[in-house]
Amino acid sequence: MADAEKTYDVIVLGAGSTGENVADIAVRGGLSAVLVEAELVGGECSYWACMPSKALLRGSEALAAARAVQGAAAAVTGEQDVAATLARRTSFTSDWNDSSQVEWVQGAGIDLVRGTGRLAGEKCVVVTSVDGTEQTLTARQAVAVCTGSMAKMPPVEGLADVRPWTSREATSATTAPGRLVVIGGGYVGCEMATAWQQLGSQVILLQRGGGLLPGLEPAAGDAVLASLREMGVDVRLGADVTGARRDGDEVVVSTADGEFRGDEVLVATGRAARTEDIGLDTVGLEPGAYLDVDESLQVPGTPWLYAVGDVNGRKQLTHMGKYQARQAGAAIVARARGAQVDLADWSPFVATADRLAAPSVVFTEPQVGAVGRTAAQAAEAGLPHRVVQYDIGSVAGAAVFADGYTGTAIAVVDTEREVLLGVTFVGAGIAELLHSATIAIVGEVPISRLWHAVPSYPTISEVWLRLLETYRG
Ligand SMILES: Cc1cc2nc3c(=O)[nH]c(=O)nc-3n(C[C@H](O)[C@H](O)[C@H](O)COP(=O)(O)OP(=O)(O)OC[C@H]3O[C@@H](n4cnc5c(N)ncnc54)[C@H](O)[C@@H]3O)c2cc1C
Repeated sequence: MADAEKTYDVIVLGAGSTGENVADIAVRGGLSAVLVEAELVGGECSYWACMPSKALLRGSEALAAARAVQGAAAAVTGEQDVAATLARRTSFTSDWNDSSQVEWVQGAGIDLVRGTGRLAGEKCVVVTSVDGTEQTLTARQAVAVCTGSMAKMPPVEGLADVRPWTSREATSATTAPGRLVVIGGGYVGCEMATAWQQLGSQVILLQRGGGLLPGLEPAAGDAVLASLREMGVDVRLGADVTGARRDGDEVVVSTADGEFRGDEVLVATGRAARTEDIGLDTVGLEPGAYLDVDESLQVPGTPWLYAVGDVNGRKQLTHMGKYQARQAGAAIVARARGAQVDLADWSPFVATADRLAAPSVVFTEPQVGAVGRTAAQAAEAGLPHRVVQYDIGSVAGAAVFADGYTGTAIAVVDTEREVLLGVTFVGAGIAELLHSATIAIVGEVPISRLWHAVPSYPTISEVWLRLLETYRG
């Protein structure tokens, strides 16, 4: 633990996956660094997001995979052991204990101060610990704000008063609620509806818009919608929630089309920046908003301040926060050595992939993997493009993978430069396929060269060949 007043080269506010990586890169670059953490070292991903949500989903996915193979299906004679799945989930969160991550921090040569940190003017952070004592930390080089995001509560009458679940309760619950109403059809809503329906809840999913997974190719949302309904989830599209109240043990959610009752309600309507109470006003910035950053994650006009990960609102994914942390960490180290940092695309100091090639996987059934631009985004950017689509189920590798495999691959091709702008895969087991698309986009591999990247037979990757054939026409 740090002394009452101390100076470091770099102060990192928030020890989530992003903050840990900024501090690590700084220390590896020869700087001293301190992490300030108010809750658990490791942040949202380890305890209330990626890890527990994927552990909740994995059992059902494994069962579905076995049931989709004639012969193997015969061995699935029972139901999922829900208690064991929940116990496995809990083991991934280390029972919400961060001692192993604290050990890693110490081993990496990073100091840790527990408490709530607030900026108190230029390069200064005051940390208040749970017992009320305060420590003042000063940075020689940089302060990196990595305080992440939290569930956004929509301004719906009565909603905050019904003690709704957020993603935290949805990923840490110890029993399946009998009936669960989910508000929001983005990736958190779709994943949690999938998980809890298959762990025994009756789920109602209310989505305001006309489809699920907005922002992705419409075919992805359509496939997940069909699958959720087939599993028994009551999905209502165009459902604008207007109010919520408790009626005894029940929670009642109102829409223009009627009332929906459940034992719990999960609000999954997006994220808000955790910047309300971190002293941004002391350095002339607006509290509560996402922090604007340049390509090196530096806050414009405040050269000692960086905002990295969910808190800048760019791409709210663990791997993108860690990527930003590597880039920002490298920029901090270089600038501390007096070097100029190159802000051109793909330089080691900038987060170009935020704009051009951020991959994401939605772990629903089917999985959805997407990287780069969708057709709608390419059109909006005014890029000359063509969309090619192929039914993954027609590929031999997919047919072997699962009986009756259904899935779709969509490629958005820049018709002027003849390179890929974006790729989306929808289907079982496609998550591991996505990195091939990420490499093709980041490498700006010409379509003519992709013909020489030969996929193995019989694998699902053969869909690459079919996409090329479809593009050639
Ligand atoms: C349900 C769910 C599932 C998800 N699944 C995935 C997934 O499968 N894959 C994926 O890539 N992403 C996923 N995400 C997104 C991912 O969780 C986030 O992008 C990631 O956790 C962001 O990391 P971060 O370090 O920027 O912020 P956080 O993990 O939120 O860390 C911020 C840290 O700062 C601390 N903090 C905040 N304010 C202060 C303060 N004033 N003083 C001290 N400490 C402070 C917090 O306690 C926290 O530990 C999921 C998100 C949700 C909600």
